[in-house]
Amino acid sequence: MIFPYQPKKSLGQNFLVDENIINKIVSIGNINKDKTVLEIGAGYGNLTKKILAKNPHKILVIEKDKNLFSFIKENFSNLKNIKLFNSDILKIIENNTLGKKIIVYGNLPYNISTQILAKFILLKKWPPWYDNLILMFQKEVAERIIAKKNTKNFGRLSILCNWRLEIEKHFDVSKNCFYPKPKVNSTVLSFKPKKNYEFYLKDPKILEFITRILFSNRRKMINKNFSKLFKNSIDVARELELDLNCRPEQLNNEIYYKIAKKYENLLG
Ligand code: SAH
Repeated sequence: MIFPYQPKKSLGQNFLVDENIINKIVSIGNINKDKTVLEIGAGYGNLTKKILAKNPHKILVIEKDKNLFSFIKENFSNLKNIKLFNSDILKIIENNTLGKKIIVYGNLPYNISTQILAKFILLKKWPPWYDNLILMFQKEVAERIIAKKNTKNFGRLSILCNWRLEIEKHFDVSKNCFYPKPKVNSTVLSFKPKKNYEFYLKDPKILEFITRILFSNRRKMINKNFSKLFKNSIDVARELELDLNCRPEQLNNEIYYKIAKKYENLLG
């Protein structure tokens, strides 16, 4: 395979070159002629090609890099079921006019992978415009996403993701499957929106806010930080049956959602 342009670190350009892995990723989404796909960061189109081979109804391709965008345009724009955008995915996620029940693929630029995921979670409209996110993360980040309480990886990211998404781990991908070879291995995860999630929040950002406060000292008991959120913190804790002597990683996901709701009710 030829790569005409110098790969840009700043755009997280590590291209997947292992055919077998590409096939495995593409098959996760069960693409057929009724499905619309959105691909984040197409690069040289390695994944794009294999997605197209499954004959989707339509594929929307986002690529921020001008050079790579023109490469993609030259190679794919003659097809009628493809739409290309030279754009930043972070500006696209909130756009509600893309369609419905879209399957999203992305071998994500690592430097903004959690930022991208957070945007997918914090959408105002729910259920959102996508049906499945099939995303590749740096292995360490994936471990934080799927972490359970009482482990060192458990934290804000796992709490936020589990709030509205059903998460599935598929497989790890060795760094040798990429060009240029990154320093770390990767993991493919997929996410389906929970249709009737239990803890509705008027403003999803509240969950980000309260977890930021409560996780600001991982090793300490939460009582001090909890009292920053609630004036009558002892009463609130009693209502929630929350032990303020716990460290933040000892609490389960649900209690964070309950705290967020309490906080929201307080704001009125
Ligand atoms: N899917 C390709 C490329 C993965 S590398 C493959 O697997 O081979 C990540 C790609 O995302 C690069 O092409 C990079 O230019 C692009 N990218 C980086 N930041 C982006 C952003 N904010 N929006 C859209 N694309 C971006």
